[in-house]
Amino acid sequence: MTFNEPAERVELRAVVADFAAGYGSGYYRARAGEGEYLTELWREAGELGYLGVNIPEEYGGGGGGIGDLAAVLEELSAAGCPTLMMVVSPAICGTVLARFGTPDQRRRWLPGLATGRTIMAFAITEPDAGSNSHRITTTARRDGDGWVLSGRKTFISGVDVADAVLVVARIRDEGSGTLSAALFAVPTGAPGFEARRIEMDLVSPDHQFQLFMDDVRLPGDALVGDPEAGLLQLFAGLNPERIMAASLAAGSARHALDKAVAYAKERTVWGDRPIGAHQGLAHPLAQVKIELEQARLMTQHAALRYDSGDDAGAGEAANMAKYAAAEACVRAVDQAVQTLGGNGLASEYGLGSAIAAARLARIAPVSREMVLNYVAQQSLGLPKSY
Ligand SMILES: Cc1cc2nc3c(=O)[nH]c(=O)nc-3n(C[C@H](O)[C@H](O)[C@H](O)COP(=O)(O)OP(=O)(O)OC[C@H]3O[C@@H](n4cnc5c(N)ncnc54)[C@H](O)[C@@H]3O)c2cc1C
Repeated sequence: MTFNEPAERVELRAVVADFAAGYGSGYYRARAGEGEYLTELWREAGELGYLGVNIPEEYGGGGGGIGDLAAVLEELSAAGCPTLMMVVSPAICGTVLARFGTPDQRRRWLPGLATGRTIMAFAITEPDAGSNSHRITTTARRDGDGWVLSGRKTFISGVDVADAVLVVARIRDEGSGTLSAALFAVPTGAPGFEARRIEMDLVSPDHQFQLFMDDVRLPGDALVGDPEAGLLQLFAGLNPERIMAASLAAGSARHALDKAVAYAKERTVWGDRPIGAHQGLAHPLAQVKIELEQARLMTQHAALRYDSGDDAGAGEAANMAKYAAAEACVRAVDQAVQTLGGNGLASEYGLGSAIAAARLARIAPVSREMVLNYVAQQSLGLPKSY
């Protein structure tokens, strides 16, 4: 038993950190401020194989696991370049297609997802369902050999840069009238598919959209995998989503902590001793470091369980990792702002906008409260309240 990451993962982290340092938070903030995506970074990372480390080798990926992809996202985020599109495209969509796609679907989508040349968004959230995904109403009905899809989605990330969206819907059995969950690959250019941008108080190159799908006609093979295995397929994508969200939050926490520590070592206002010598600043930063390392350990544990095929065990660990990393990120950014005093809110240091980004970690892709519900019910066996 070892708590060290394998040598290849350590090496992967080092090369990605080096690559990301070439872009850095200045590049990220400039692109976000211009309303543009991290296109150059994404393209180069794709060419270097970083975006597809988890995709099977036969489809042009690195043949690694979600732990490898999570390490890539953590290092990008630690360098100040986080992107939600790594969570949705190679992690959720790549995993679902690799595990459950038909041979044709895998050949069609995976090589592009592996290099980043194809981007796939993921849409489950609906305006009237929110955290209660059992309440979604987006529905597909059979139409000859194909499908007709109708419904609405909200807060869907990256539709402006995506070629397609993996949409969670329900299929209506015309005979019995029952509804079962299913996933559809929907091209963003399909007639009847409309995306409207939601204005957010987040400074981010990832934009959010409302989707309006009005009788979108899809070919028969737009239905991903086996219609009988709908929920199982969906859950296969949700553990990677949580592990990746935890890594994004942990990387962002590292970025904030690094800034705070560097500042606390340099800034002097009482004689020659830097402000970091005062325990009022040093202890909260040390506390952040401890909570961050706990969250990273839990994230690596969740990834290890997932990559070793233990879906059930990974579910509990991935939820706990996501919770721990989000809390560490919120605390890290808050303490970094405090450490920098007035500069904590000066645009030059980029920490003011990090406050909203850190709060996002508590809300999406699964909220803090829904994680606590999961742990209360699944881990502790407490009764369900809703
Ligand atoms: C920037 C951003 C990007 C996103 N990207 C995507 C994406 O790409 N694809 C996608 O499908 N979705 C995406 N989402 C949606 C995200 O997953 C949801 O916002 C999140 O799941 C919460 O749903 P909601 O906003 O409808 O909140 P609601 O469900 O309305 O919840 C509101 C509050 O009530 C709490 N609450 C709800 N039910 C309970 C309960 N039973 N017990 C205790 N508390 C409860 C919640 O925790 C929350 O605090 C994104 C959201 C944001 C903000």
